[in-house]
Amino acid sequence: MTNKEIANKFADLANIMELHKDNPFKIKSYKNTYIQLRKLDRALVDMTEDEIASLKGVGKATTSKILELIETQEMNTYNKYREKTPPGIVEMLGIKGFGPSKIRVVWKELGCETVGELLYACNENRLVGLKGFGAKTQADLIDKIHFFLGARNKFHYARIFSKANGIMEQVRNELPEAKVEFVGAFRRKHPIIDKLELLLCNGNPTTLNYELVKQDNNRYQFKTDDDFIFHIIHCKEEEWGSKLFRYTGTREFMESFLSSSEAKDFKGIATEEEVFSKASLPYIIPELRENGLYINKDMSQLITEDDVKGVIHSHTTYSDGINSLQEMASYSKEKGYRYIGITDHSKSAFYANGLKEDRIKEQWAEIDALNASYEDGFRIYKGIESDILYDGNLDYDEDILKGFDFIIASVHSNLKMDEEKATSRLIKAIENPYTTILGHPTGRLLLSRKGYPIDHKKVIDACAANGVAIEMNANPLRLDMDFEWIPYAMEKGVKISINPDAHSTQGIHDIRYGVMAARKGGLTKEFIYNFE
Ligand SMILES: [Zn+2]
Ligand SMILES: [Zn+2]
Repeated sequence: MTNKEIANKFADLANIMELHKDNPFKIKSYKNTYIQLRKLDRALVDMTEDEIASLKGVGKATTSKILELIETQEMNTYNKYREKTPPGIVEMLGIKGFGPSKIRVVWKELGCETVGELLYACNENRLVGLKGFGAKTQADLIDKIHFFLGARNKFHYARIFSKANGIMEQVRNELPEAKVEFVGAFRRKHPIIDKLELLLCNGNPTTLNYELVKQDNNRYQFKTDDDFIFHIIHCKEEEWGSKLFRYTGTREFMESFLSSSEAKDFKGIATEEEVFSKASLPYIIPELRENGLYINKDMSQLITEDDVKGVIHSHTTYSDGINSLQEMASYSKEKGYRYIGITDHSKSAFYANGLKEDRIKEQWAEIDALNASYEDGFRIYKGIESDILYDGNLDYDEDILKGFDFIIASVHSNLKMDEEKATSRLIKAIENPYTTILGHPTGRLLLSRKGYPIDHKKVIDACAANGVAIEMNANPLRLDMDFEWIPYAMEKGVKISINPDAHSTQGIHDIRYGVMAARKGGLTKEFIYNFE
């Protein structure tokens, strides 16, 4: 072990002890050990026990920990703390500039146990009310978390979107003669991107104003000023179509494609359209090249953003939204939507300021007044995002439930369930005659929380039997239900509701990501859920 590795272990120990509010004196002494060991100019592994013990900032107990590390690469004391800490919390300690005492607050007060849950809590504005936090801390933290996730080389599509387009623009500006296109997961508009790749011909990538990190034949790896890595694959113009095709589809797609095609050789083709025509197959848009499902299918009825007629699933200042009901409604109207369905949190969601019965009635009165004021047919629907309680019941009595125009039923608490429990809890809620839409069916957060396991077929079957739609939660951190289940839902006649789950007027724009994911699932116009 190097000195640095040994020193880091003491920093980790101090941090994790601080997280558990342990003895501040010991924490301070381990922090000091870290500093002293980092200053050392001799390798600890070459020193005797006595020499180590005589070092500044190193006492007897610390010496034995150092020796233990050198011998076993482990530190028992640290491991004990680690065992009693959720793995996601340990991971949070890796977010630069977000210290253990703050992590303790979000862990204990908000119940965030993973980095993704923390990111989601920031997006839902939950941190501003915490002691020692504020809007600025929250905004900074969002950047820090994205940096942290980026360092693991996995990105949410939405996060990488503007960066990717910025790179594209610069490449086009600097190499105006070149032909450039995205390939890989980004071109397929996959919700998670692990690598940003561009295909280029008619230009020399090495002249670009980016730091060239690596070159391997026709593959170039570049770094931006903010340390983002992207890749350029260079090809000849006459093989453009072949390469574009080859670097876009997944392996699964390519295998299906080849087995459906009489022709087998697709080298040296200038356009992608010619690749398809050589195979005597209809062109397939990149989004649908995830698997072989859409080969030789008529996909002309695939939904577009225009098919989303209104905003379903929105939060206001009544619960945890940033904008008022009126602001949310006006913005939707301004953006050309025909209606908005307001769905604040229900009363059990106390952490999100969920609505008790009296405040629901207050909201209904406001909605009635606003509706009366619209002259162009725009309408606000009275909805609620009702918690699905642990037993599968909805959050209110029948006399309240029947007053809503529609109800989204979602799980927000007690997420740790086995598949049987989670499935039956959802089905109970789906069978409730007041449920209109099943909200974010698995509770997953992309790149961070797997979500509770459910038997998708049983849940979709129950929705079919009860005329309940399923939400495609359009928040790019969720995109839940997973697009891969859309074909089965359509087969069963279940409609999909593309919902922004907007917590602000700007959140409404997330609809585009929901549409993107729904298109990847092959959702056709017939199966999109709209109120009218
Ligand atoms: Zn929700
Ligand atoms: Zn919501």
